Amino acid sequence: MKTLYIVATPIGNLADISFRAVETLKSVDFIVAEDTRHTGILLKKHDIEAQLISFHAQSADTKSREIFARMDDNSAIAYVSDAGTPGISDPGYRLVREAIQQGIKVVPIPGPSALTTFLSAAGLPTDSFIFYGFLPHKKGRQTILQECRKSDRTSVFYESVHRFPKLLKELSEILDNSRIIVVGRELTKMHEEFFRGNLVEAIAHFTKENTKGEFVVAISPRDFSFQKTSEFPLEKGGEGDLLKSREKIDQIDAELLKLLAERMKISRKIAQIKQKAGLPKYIPEREVELIANLQNLNDSKLRDSDIEKIWLTILEISRGEVEKDW
Ligand code: SAM
Repeated sequence: MKTLYIVATPIGNLADISFRAVETLKSVDFIVAEDTRHTGILLKKHDIEAQLISFHAQSADTKSREIFARMDDNSAIAYVSDAGTPGISDPGYRLVREAIQQGIKVVPIPGPSALTTFLSAAGLPTDSFIFYGFLPHKKGRQTILQECRKSDRTSVFYESVHRFPKLLKELSEILDNSRIIVVGRELTKMHEEFFRGNLVEAIAHFTKENTKGEFVVAISPRDFSFQKTSEFPLEKGGEGDLLKSREKIDQIDAELLKLLAERMKISRKIAQIKQKAGLPKYIPEREVELIANLQNLNDSKLRDSDIEKIWLTILEISRGEVEKDW
């Protein structure tokens, strides 16, 4: 009987492949791959010699028919996507559908997927969750995000590196500032990172330097929260200082923080901050300090101590705790 094996492959770390996957890839007549160069690296690493045929997102349905036409009655072939489990937000499902329509037996060889890898360590409820894959770029995007806002389930997305900053901004406009999000970046790779926190913290955390790579993003169910204790740092690299400053963040008007992270001219930023904090237009001494700190922020090279200083300055000014020498 003709057989199509759907083989899961690593999402970063090339050692994350099962014995069964390697055996299957070694034994099939040929391997259909989303990107033959990419798969070539994996095959070389595991000493697998096989003929590779490409089938990617742009391949027409006729291509899958051509592929199956090469099989004889006892042929076995395998399909591997770029990374992870074929069929999960990639062109794999089209090949599987065509195989089923042609009476070809489909056998899954399970393994990694960015979705399950992420959820297994995210710390969010998984008894029931909703996976949206990649969000539509325009039509339907806002409807889905509103749905997530109201949801009592964990909502999960895949996001590309180019669109991640935009997604973060959109979430901060739609969701309450206290809503927890979890971001898994570069999973199983050298710079793997999990961010867990509210949106104010997320905006302060993700700068130009750490918005590279591949991302999975989740929005917690509506009433979910993490207990913050020193034994449970919410973020990688969350040393004592960062935790201390997090406590301070919690006291501060989140609107001001959002504003700080926005890209706009410094003079406009200051004017808006003053307006939000209800400050008079003329604040000579403190303004100099604010400008200096905001300039740092624009350089995206902010250290936690800088962020803390900005927050404290604004907090002090807005609460009238500084000397009113103006
Ligand atoms: N079929 C794949 C799977 O099972 O994970 C997903 C394919 S989809 C085209 C690619 C997306 O998966 C990326 O844009 C990213 O959102 C996510 N992804 C893949 N590898 C990842 C990784 N190592 N870390 C975080 N996200 C990853």
